[in-house]
Amino acid sequence: MQDIAAQLEALDSALAAAVSDVFGSDGAVAASDDVLLSILGLAARIGRRAEALQIEAAAHVEYRSNGPIREERLAARFGCRSASELVQRVTRVSSRTAADLLKAGRAIIRSVAPSSGEVLPSDYPGMRGALASGHVGADGLLAVVGPLAQVAMVAGRAAQLAADEELAAAARGEGVDAAPPACADDLRALASVWAMYLDQDGAELRGAAMRKRGVALGACRDGLVPLRGSLLPEVAGQLQLVFDSILNPKVDDRGPAFRELDSDAECEAARNAVADDRTHTQKLHDAFATALFTVAGSGALPTLGGAAPTLVVSVRAEDIESGRGFAHIDGCAEPVSLTFARQIACCGGIQRVVSDRGGRILSIDSPDRVFTPHQRRAIALRDGGCIIPGCGVRAAWCELHHVHEHSRGGPTHTDNGVMLCWHHHRTIESSGWKIRMNRGVPEVRGPYWWDASMTWRAVTKSPTRMRDRLAGRPR
Ligand SMILES: [Zn+2]
Repeated sequence: MQDIAAQLEALDSALAAAVSDVFGSDGAVAASDDVLLSILGLAARIGRRAEALQIEAAAHVEYRSNGPIREERLAARFGCRSASELVQRVTRVSSRTAADLLKAGRAIIRSVAPSSGEVLPSDYPGMRGALASGHVGADGLLAVVGPLAQVAMVAGRAAQLAADEELAAAARGEGVDAAPPACADDLRALASVWAMYLDQDGAELRGAAMRKRGVALGACRDGLVPLRGSLLPEVAGQLQLVFDSILNPKVDDRGPAFRELDSDAECEAARNAVADDRTHTQKLHDAFATALFTVAGSGALPTLGGAAPTLVVSVRAEDIESGRGFAHIDGCAEPVSLTFARQIACCGGIQRVVSDRGGRILSIDSPDRVFTPHQRRAIALRDGGCIIPGCGVRAAWCELHHVHEHSRGGPTHTDNGVMLCWHHHRTIESSGWKIRMNRGVPEVRGPYWWDASMTWRAVTKSPTRMRDRLAGRPR
């Protein structure tokens, strides 16, 4: 073993000289294309061989760190909590890379039977051979082991060995199709095909997916909460349908929403109105928000503390009046803007709590629920969907907006409520669209780019009302 260390030291010195040449003035800059690709390919081969050594060594570090007597475990003797920590300290890799090395090591290690002292074959002897011959590195090995390990229970040992052998041949470039040596992504694709073949009804794959499914909300940072996770295909499919339904509502035969636009300039303006500078992911975010707010307000969810799931936003009355300060959402450390608080108040309800300087509650109003279901249905009939021209969000997905702000005395009356989608509701103060009520009928004045004449126009997406308007015209 001393010899191996001396051999590797000598190799390292030779490698150090080569690295120094490549990084020197006559190195990569002056190299021809052929030489450049040779450097890349040879360095990768050396890297794969070096990884093979790391994987085998790491595997035995872990094996020796798992003994029954704590004081005798290798990691413990070197002052580390775990084999992973010892591997990280010796190799200087991240915890993630150490985990990969150890996972690869478990797949190829030949352990010793405790009773007989016999050296046992590894779980993947074919891939162990491809690793030893420098044909795969850690990523290629894991690309094979990942899919096959998922079906190991149902596949049985003989089938697993057959897959291992064939995939190792593909890694060496000796596969059935005589293709050149497979790279890691090819191996993953081949191994996935094998896994599906070995687990025909998908029971194991499905079980693994079931265990891995999950959604997590991270901590709020810079005003954003990271969302990550993995959805089962049917859940992703359902979510995609919800997105599609909100973002691309099917156009039915009722025709364009703005029949009353007659001149060319007006038609041009209507075409421009669909201009929407949100990115695709921003649109998906807004559709997600729409779906959540719609479901929360639908009455179909279980109650929380005796009420529908209610997003509580607290704000000081003085701040709302002065327009300066922040609001807070329950369970979120970061403050949110007053604009957000006003928008939430617009389509939700407001409960005024008066307290004295010491914090004692002096009085509470009963919550003021805005717009009854009856009012909502009537407004939906009148507006037919988001009233902003060019927006196709249907009534079912819309919020009700107080044209004259609720917190400034605007009544909760159908004459003061219009339908807006989540996006247009959130941007109504800054987007340039203006809304007013004219004897109970919503009118919109577009931004200059949409309508240079800045004319107020009565709007509706309701087919019933559009037919109404046409009724008096000569045919
Ligand atoms: Zn809209």
